[in-house]
Amino acid sequence: MSLVGSESNPLRVAIIGSGPAGFYTVNHLLKQTGLQVEIDMYERLPFPFGLVRAGVAPDHQKDKTVARVYDKNARSGHYRFYGCVEYGKNIYLKDLRNHYHQIVFATGAQADRNLGIPGEDLKGNHSATEFVAWYNGHPDYVDHRFDLSQEKVAIVGLGNVAIDVARILCKTAEELATTDMADYAIKALAKSRVNEVYMLGRRGPAQAAFSNSEIKELGGLSNIDVTVPAEEAELDDISQTELERTQDKDKLKNVRTIQEFAHRSQTGKPKRLTIRFLVSPTEIIGDDAGRVGAIKLVKNEAVKGTNGSVRAKATDRFETLRVGLVFRSVGYRGIPLEGIPFNESRGTIENQSGRVVTGDPGEPVVGLYAVGWIKRGPTGVIGTNKTDAKETVACMIEDLHQAKHLTPAHPEIESASALVKARQPQFISYDDWLVIDEIEVVKGQQSGRPRIKFVDVRDMLAVLGR
Ligand code: NAP
Repeated sequence: MSLVGSESNPLRVAIIGSGPAGFYTVNHLLKQTGLQVEIDMYERLPFPFGLVRAGVAPDHQKDKTVARVYDKNARSGHYRFYGCVEYGKNIYLKDLRNHYHQIVFATGAQADRNLGIPGEDLKGNHSATEFVAWYNGHPDYVDHRFDLSQEKVAIVGLGNVAIDVARILCKTAEELATTDMADYAIKALAKSRVNEVYMLGRRGPAQAAFSNSEIKELGGLSNIDVTVPAEEAELDDISQTELERTQDKDKLKNVRTIQEFAHRSQTGKPKRLTIRFLVSPTEIIGDDAGRVGAIKLVKNEAVKGTNGSVRAKATDRFETLRVGLVFRSVGYRGIPLEGIPFNESRGTIENQSGRVVTGDPGEPVVGLYAVGWIKRGPTGVIGTNKTDAKETVACMIEDLHQAKHLTPAHPEIESASALVKARQPQFISYDDWLVIDEIEVVKGQQSGRPRIKFVDVRDMLAVLGR
């Protein structure tokens, strides 16, 4: 038998998950000189591109242009997309071992974190993840409901997702109507009565997780006055010393932006966004109807943690904010995959530089790899996945050269394809996706929008004649 990766015996790779991390893995594999590779990508949803379609904010279309590179790789002739095929439901590790030399998990971080405080079960308390997936038309979230008749909303967390949620809640109906947001969300947000939004950060302005471009954009929105309580915009001594020492450019820019917001006067715009620092929710308080009525906050002080980081320590000062909706935006979390070693505390697959490992000390599990958020946790921007995938692919190539790969009984493309057809006759191929994509884009062009998304899987299957 010729070497794996040669013309007559191509390297067969399965990638589970079709978001940026999965597609950058395809990209790096295709770039390897002298390597013949045939890639099958499995995706539980009917469409590719993961958070580029279902997570990136609909008013940030530029961030979605990365999908053009993914599309180019998908058309390389060495790639197949199997949409509506779920790992652990339609296809199992045993099957994959039977058809591929290497298997890469790129499943992202699909769950969200709780705050762990009383009142989280109240109606009107949501995760930002749900809201983002809902307005982006993610098929699993179309039936979610958010009571946008409420005027006051609290968003817990100061990351880029929290900013996306705040911006979407604050933009005008006209601004949202030109995006590729799901139609039902455009309609619901047009009727929204939200006019007061609080963003709540547990640490100070120098520790905020948002990017400067994102926070600055909030300050320029047509519809809102942005404000920061003056005393909360000031740096505590520990943060001041730390910032002087590190001269971290991104943090310095954020602090400057926040302090500029604190000096702004209110201009009477229809909505107000208040960014708070050094406060932590301790309870979500219900009203008589069992809905969110308020959020109780404790004031924090900045202290130096054992590892040198600046941490928030609760004081004995409390306050209560009257709000009718709460969105917690405190980070995502990966979910375990059947048969794959998982680190519960980190919410990631156990791995070393992308090689799945097991036991202590970690021993590589031959043929299994991880990439993206399920490998490193939910950090970084889309482009971070490019370097991340490069690292994982480097491990895959090194292992291939040392013949440390699986030895599948049926590495032929047709054999895996026959299995998919048997297990999930309704699977979506990349050509199917291109049909769906074109219909969406053409419909969008007729209304001056980037696309009008299908949000129901049955409608997607119907246009494919299924
Ligand atoms: P994130 O950047 O990790 O931010 C999470 C925020 O939640 C932080 O402010 C964190 O504060 C806070 N937090 C965590 N636990 C908390 C608790 N128990 N109580 C109060 N606050 C708590 O997460 P994310 O916003 O979900 O974003 C995920 C990733 O996607 C990030 O890398 C982000 O940059 C990226 N993203 C990028 C864009 C973009 O580029 N436009 C858009 C969306 C998302 P501490 O810092 O104190 O922990």
